[in-house]
Amino acid sequence: MARATPHRVGLIGHPVDHSRSPAMQQAAFDALRLDIQYELWDTTTGDLRKRIEALRQPDMLGANVTIPHKIAVMPYLDSLSSTARHLAGAVNTIVREETPHGVRLIGHNTDTTALLRILDEQRVWRPDLRALVLGAGGAAQAALGAILARGGQPWVAARKRSDARQALDSLYARREEAARDASASATSASGVFFAGAFTAPDHLKSYALSLDDLDAIAQALAETRLLINATPVGTRDPMASPIPIDLLRRLPRDAFVLDLVYNPPETAVVRAAHAIGLRATGGFSMLLYQGAESFTLWTGFEAPLATMRAALEAALQSEA
Ligand code: NAP
Repeated sequence: MARATPHRVGLIGHPVDHSRSPAMQQAAFDALRLDIQYELWDTTTGDLRKRIEALRQPDMLGANVTIPHKIAVMPYLDSLSSTARHLAGAVNTIVREETPHGVRLIGHNTDTTALLRILDEQRVWRPDLRALVLGAGGAAQAALGAILARGGQPWVAARKRSDARQALDSLYARREEAARDASASATSASGVFFAGAFTAPDHLKSYALSLDDLDAIAQALAETRLLINATPVGTRDPMASPIPIDLLRRLPRDAFVLDLVYNPPETAVVRAAHAIGLRATGGFSMLLYQGAESFTLWTGFEAPLATMRAALEAALQSEA
């Protein structure tokens, strides 16, 4: 339910001035005639705690969180959705809630749920789906959580194989924590949970690859039904790809390719996948869907998706 008095939402990060969230969210607030202002709150690590405490004020609805604070904010919140805590291991949206016991700040992760929305829409899931994630940073963790949430089997390829292994170790550690925390579903706010049995495969290490090991990548691609680029390679460079583009020919005919890079709208990876007849999309929908879910979490209203899409397209075009 929307609240009656003027309210504020903002983006907590450092830096924040490049963000498209203000344009997208303000357009949505205005379209629904909600008296809410979206602000940019550039916040250093030293000021983070104070910034989060300020969200308890009555005029606050919540916040988005971006680099470098998505993990650092977690201890300052009162509770976490299972999506944020276990699937993503990070928070990108905070909601202020008034309860009979006082104000509570709840952390969510709408990057992961946006990814799930796209992959559900594309009907990629099948038993034991093999998915290869390129990159081992924050977006890769959101993708890995989404894959495990639907019972998929993730591989990770990073510049350093040790980073790929660490990304998988951290994913499976969160899943084990979810299993140990018998009360997790009762104590955390709503969210997506892991599918399947809570056991890490013994052969886990063999799923961590180096982006330089092209033989291993080629072999993995031959079994990959879902390929996700979670590196920034391709950003503002329509010719750049994190793996040699010809290797995409190794993918099965029914594979789906998702490039999280949204600028340009059609990256080299997406273009090459289309050229060989594969289904593929760039990162625009993820950006839109994560914003739409944050909007709903703050306001209780269904997000005006067409308005948000148009505002986002305009913001991206203006920087192209
Ligand atoms: P991050 O935490 O900095 O992680 C980036 C990952 O990519 C790291 O594993 C990094 O490896 C790797 N990488 C960087 N440069 C590379 C290169 N030249 N070749 C191969 N690997 C490279 O960043 P992130 O938050 O995960 O974001 C990754 C990308 O996803 C960005 O382009 C971001 O814009 C996009 N993204 C899109 C959405 C969306 O809504 N569409 C949401 C989140 C993120 P090293 O440690 O070796 O550098």
